[in-house]
Amino acid sequence: MAFYRITYNEKYDFATLHNWGCTFRCPYCSYKLRSGAEGRPGFAVPKPEKFLTVDEQKKALLEVKPSKVYFMGGEPTVATELEEMIVFAKKELGAETKLGHTNGCKLPLRCLDGANVGFKAWSEELHLQITGKPKSLIYDNFRNAFEVGMKMAANMVYIPGFVDLDELEGCVKFIAALDKNIPFHIDGYIPIPGQPYRRPSDEEMGRAESLVKSYLPNCRYSHLTSEEALDLSARDDRFRVKRIAGV
Ligand code: SF4
Repeated sequence: MAFYRITYNEKYDFATLHNWGCTFRCPYCSYKLRSGAEGRPGFAVPKPEKFLTVDEQKKALLEVKPSKVYFMGGEPTVATELEEMIVFAKKELGAETKLGHTNGCKLPLRCLDGANVGFKAWSEELHLQITGKPKSLIYDNFRNAFEVGMKMAANMVYIPGFVDLDELEGCVKFIAALDKNIPFHIDGYIPIPGQPYRRPSDEEMGRAESLVKSYLPNCRYSHLTSEEALDLSARDDRFRVKRIAGV
């Protein structure tokens, strides 16, 4: 696949390239909230009508010359031109390059400065159940990316009774053994229609935060309702962007 949209945030001077598609099949994927495909497994977002060519992507970036270029999805490493665009952003624009959200399947990458990896589970069986892929791929890639000097951050969706505190704890212990200053974000599960899971209570989020902070002090969390998740720009000006290319 390829990138289909580029947005720009003037205040923070970053551009984001958006890719369609993912290699995982997480049942609780929040991208489904907008898609009308909530009952289907995995990413399940309708395919865009048109994708951008590499020349169109470079032209749009040259017009704004952002100091930071982020790559998002779905899963951005699905884009066949990702590596070319990372090298372009780094070498031609002199920009900081980051995978703003990735499942960690393809790390590290040349000229990539940082990545925010969404871990799914700590136990092997649950990871396989959620993603359809082995856990070692993601955890080994995260360690390798950290060891080559990439600026790493991580997150996990907390779902009481499914991806519970023991899963969070295993993951954050692994990360803390690399560096306890790595930032970690707990995503309180956002209810997806058609899925059987429930949103954590305020008290459960508090307990999750205390647990993670005992290993990784640089921990934050979000606890959004489905409605709030559909209007992120009202809560955070990093989401106030203009589209500079694509659909
Ligand atoms: S890895 Fe992320 S984008 Fe892909 S299916 Fe899972 S939650 Fe959705």
